[in-house]
Amino acid sequence: VARQSTGPVIRAERSYVMIKPDGVQRGLVGEIITRFERKGFQLKGLKLFQTPEDLAKEHYKDLASKPFYGKLVDYIISGPVVAMIWEGDGVVASARKLIGATNPLAAEPGTIRGDFAVEVGRNVVHGSDSPENGEREIGLWFEETEVVEWTRDMTPWLKE
Ligand code: UDP
Ligand code: MG
Repeated sequence: VARQSTGPVIRAERSYVMIKPDGVQRGLVGEIITRFERKGFQLKGLKLFQTPEDLAKEHYKDLASKPFYGKLVDYIISGPVVAMIWEGDGVVASARKLIGATNPLAAEPGTIRGDFAVEVGRNVVHGSDSPENGEREIGLWFEETEVVEWTRDMTPWLKE
């Protein structure tokens, strides 16, 4: 985190990425983490977590009026999730590309949903849709003490 002498805190872009209960149950945790790791983003937080219902509702509150909201909340609390923070320039949009379209049948092969899912209600993974929502979601899912600041020695081999 860099602080200008007078201005606000400038921090690197972060995305909240979550392996949903179907991804955990299907044994896709390693596969999904590998895709973000090998792309070159930096892992800043990681936990296996049983989601309380109120947190699932808050996370998806913008969808509360949708007919599928109740089933969506039930899905997200149906088993443990893997909650992650990935950091890097452009990570929010890039993570969405790695994840693929919301409907897995429309998702391109090579994306996570394109390779591993067939239904919108079992689409394996979540990624924040804007940097602002990334920060909002990280604040919902992680305590400050669970966010790990570390220097990755590989960074000079990824960024000039
Ligand atoms: N969803 C669903 N039915 C729909 C649309 C969405 O069950 O018709 C679920 C799906 O799990 C999706 C989540 O609601 O990932 C959030 O929807 P959003 O439009 O934000 O898609 P995402 O950002 O996950 O691609
Ligand atoms: Mg979304």
